[in-house]
Amino acid sequence: MEICVLGSGSGGNSTCIKSGNTTLLIDAGFTAKELKQRLLSAQVDPFAIQAILFTHEHIDHCRAARVFSHKLKQAELFANMGTSDAINQLSQEDLPWTVFETSQSFAVGDFQITSFSVSHDCADPVGYLIEDDHSRLFYATDLGTATILVQQKLQGCTAAILESNHDVQMLMESERAWSLKQRIKGDSGHLSNDDAAALVRCSITPELRLLLLAHISGECNTHQLARETMQEALHAINRMDVRLETLQQDTPSEWFSI
Ligand SMILES: [Zn+2]
Ligand SMILES: [Zn+2]
Repeated sequence: MEICVLGSGSGGNSTCIKSGNTTLLIDAGFTAKELKQRLLSAQVDPFAIQAILFTHEHIDHCRAARVFSHKLKQAELFANMGTSDAINQLSQEDLPWTVFETSQSFAVGDFQITSFSVSHDCADPVGYLIEDDHSRLFYATDLGTATILVQQKLQGCTAAILESNHDVQMLMESERAWSLKQRIKGDSGHLSNDDAAALVRCSITPELRLLLLAHISGECNTHQLARETMQEALHAINRMDVRLETLQQDTPSEWFSI
């Protein structure tokens, strides 16, 4: 399996995953023009994308949904009922969805895909497990709390794309409104660096080789703080062998092979 995160953060999210002859996207949160450029810069032909899986309807995850559904007719759009309805409303159009039930697995080409519920302030948000014959990827950004279900899903994964959104002190000292701070910090907001580190400490299993920190706030976090907090956790459990990287908002990542 090969993974390229095309961008991650409140300005837009999208991740491209390839295995054998199958290419899929998780989320399409940039404008269609921007996302197409990012795909091309990652050497991906947009017309090779077989499926786009959506996590939830916040605009930084679905901005290109309507235009891509018109332009990339070959790409099947996947979401659960709550998210597909909400994206239809935003798009003011009924897009051609393949609706799945959360937690029921389905296949797209060489991938087996399972969604799981996460706690976030929108209709019916999910994270994903993406599996091929060799590896299993955990994908969860935009979650306020690492529930027992989320902890279980991380176990046994080869790689993880995990939110490490904010540093709690930087968030509280920021200029943001009190209500927004409470929203971000709350159970249906975003995972802090400490939350992400605690999740990894309690749920890491020997299979994990690659950990990518995602949705890092530009205002209430730094890449260095996110990395150091996670490095400390990995050090404490003797897992410095795990490759740890932070993901950028402005540029696509390299291709990671797992
Ligand atoms: Zn988001
Ligand atoms: Zn969100």
